[in-house]
Amino acid sequence: MSPEDTMRLLVTLRSRGVTDKRVLTAMERVDRARFVSETFASRAYADVPLPIAAGQTTSQPSVVGIMTQALGVEPRDKVLEVGTGTGYQSAILSQLARRVYTVERHRALAQTARANHEALGLTNVTQITGDGSHGLPDQAPFDRILVTAAAEDPPGPLLAQLRIGGSMVVPVGVSDHVQTLIKVTRTPGGYDYDELSTVRFVPLVEGVENG
Ligand code: SAH
Repeated sequence: MSPEDTMRLLVTLRSRGVTDKRVLTAMERVDRARFVSETFASRAYADVPLPIAAGQTTSQPSVVGIMTQALGVEPRDKVLEVGTGTGYQSAILSQLARRVYTVERHRALAQTARANHEALGLTNVTQITGDGSHGLPDQAPFDRILVTAAAEDPPGPLLAQLRIGGSMVVPVGVSDHVQTLIKVTRTPGGYDYDELSTVRFVPLVEGVENG
């Protein structure tokens, strides 16, 4: 990332409400161009979603920033991401958390993301191929969960795998429509729900895809 690219990205992020210093530093360190295909490399620092393999999309940087900021990751946290896609979001989480698990249902995307993480030497990210809507019972409970695909409701297994005091950020609503980004916090007696903003994500789909 050239100094001009970094400047441009930071100005965009701040203008969209991403003000958390740790989040901005993490996003400065992770070069988005390394996660998208060469065809789109020239647009890697623009605030636009970009197409990736398997008919999916990687979110625009400001949405990544807003979701990461809302998640409020602490340095000791164990984080689960559902929807690895390119691996860009999980690379940013890896700068902020102790440990990151990220699950992707498309085998081809999962492999590329894993290679991206390895190339950057990110040793605290574990990429898993699978249906992330079931979470990872073996690794639960999680301090933070980030879902980067839209669910009709926050998936029950993910709610169950949050530790008390932990939180999850998830886009909720019908796919192909405007969805609501919500933050769910687990309390000793149940769950608190906060509506954050409107977003548009590809749907959370069940099962694993071999393509
Ligand atoms: N966070 C990604 C972008 C996510 S796009 C990035 O940084 O690039 C949403 C991704 O969620 C897609 O790759 C899609 O295949 C994946 N997905 C959808 N449903 C899923 C499920 N049930 N389990 C795991 N991944 C899923």
